[in-house]
Amino acid sequence: MTKRAQVVVIGGGIVGCAAAYYLAKRGIAVNLYEKGTIAGEQSSRNWGFVRQQGRDPAELPLMMASNKIWQGLEKELNTDLKWKQGGNLRITEDESQLPSYRAWLEIAQDHGLHTKLLGAKETKQLLPGLSTSVVGALYTESDGQADPSRVAHAFATSAGKLGADVISRCAVLGVQTSAGTLSSVATEQGEVICDAVICAAGAWSSRLMSSVGLRIPQLWLRASVGYTTKGKELTHCGVWMPGVAFRQGHDGGFNIAYGGKYKHDLTLDSLKFVRDFWRCYQKYNRAIRLNLGRRFLQDLTGNLNRFPNHRTLDPAPADSVLQSALQNFKTSFPNQSDIRFDRTWAGYIDATPDMLPIIDCVDKPGGLVVATGFSGHGFGLGPIAGLLAAQLALNEPTSHDLHAFRYQRFYEGKRVEPGNVL
Ligand SMILES: Cc1cc2nc3c(=O)[nH]c(=O)nc-3n(C[C@H](O)[C@H](O)[C@H](O)COP(=O)(O)OP(=O)(O)OC[C@H]3O[C@@H](n4cnc5c(N)ncnc54)[C@H](O)[C@@H]3O)c2cc1C
Repeated sequence: MTKRAQVVVIGGGIVGCAAAYYLAKRGIAVNLYEKGTIAGEQSSRNWGFVRQQGRDPAELPLMMASNKIWQGLEKELNTDLKWKQGGNLRITEDESQLPSYRAWLEIAQDHGLHTKLLGAKETKQLLPGLSTSVVGALYTESDGQADPSRVAHAFATSAGKLGADVISRCAVLGVQTSAGTLSSVATEQGEVICDAVICAAGAWSSRLMSSVGLRIPQLWLRASVGYTTKGKELTHCGVWMPGVAFRQGHDGGFNIAYGGKYKHDLTLDSLKFVRDFWRCYQKYNRAIRLNLGRRFLQDLTGNLNRFPNHRTLDPAPADSVLQSALQNFKTSFPNQSDIRFDRTWAGYIDATPDMLPIIDCVDKPGGLVVATGFSGHGFGLGPIAGLLAAQLALNEPTSHDLHAFRYQRFYEGKRVEPGNVL
């Protein structure tokens, strides 16, 4: 059966659900298609950090605008998102890192973001029980955190209440064009004629968009996370220190990961984009382990391009990495020594060569908005990214300059410098 919508959103992660919400709020007829479940992939698997600190100067204004939205989001969506504005601490044990911390302080200052460089004593005051020696920390008190399992759902539910059609377990199979402009999308439930499409398909965007001739350099980085049993009350901050990154959840458990350790499961895309990502491989060769296995075979047989075969990407967590993160946490906080992992999981980060997203209305086909490649930053950016994608789909001036996030930047012959993951 052929349906009709003004805008079709592909992907029910935080970006797609936020876009659908902002469109529905404007009275636009919007259909959102999700191949699996809402927030099944990155948007429920992340650390939950809503962090402005350490962001690329191009991304910082967007992240600051998103932070403002986050502050009123529970009220706006009328849902408890477990939002806490407890700040973010980036701790170092290494004196030689301080110049880079100071350099980032200048960026924060330029953008009017209050951030301090704390000494060892002040850092320890914020983290009672910290027993390892530290040199200092960057501290941004307006950073926050929320429960990833709640946010995309809250956007989707609110969008639905405003009239959006949110359809799960229905993959978009392709986008159809007519005379250089998109005309409809093919879904598992039939064709949908529309005026605009927002591709917010996370790790699948590159594959999906290749059907309309876009070459989106995007690779998957597998990152592992664990949630522990209840610990002693420690902090409201999000903390990233050598060997472990953590935040304490509302029930007292800790979300724990080993910041800066990833696996890259090789696929045919690893070969296709090898030149685009070469500088990333060089910068991150210590942080990223290459793994040749099941995903490569899936890609060779064409299986990875059949979206309904992959309702939810659920990669295996790296147990040894998580165990060492937990051990590092316990070494730093000996009074938390009785916690253990209650559950562990992994997710694929959709990385671009410069670790910045693409948020753009591409030239061809007309009417196509791409909002993808959030490179480990998309939970925090989700609300503003959804709003911007909605503005682009409506062909309106955007509330922020999106030049740094244009699709074409990879094809202008300039060297693309790798940024930071997460
Ligand atoms: C372990 C981990 C830790 C992270 N930590 C943080 C953090 O602390 N802070 C932060 O800001 N960011 C973090 N991130 C990144 C953040 O989670 C992502 O950038 C963000 O969730 C991306 O949202 P999205 O909506 O673009 O993509 P996703 O959440 O991946 O959603 C895309 C959706 O599109 C669907 N889809 C794909 N193809 C199709 C199709 N053909 N038809 C229909 N549906 C389709 C998928 O099923 C998926 O549900 C982390 C990521 C990971 C994996």
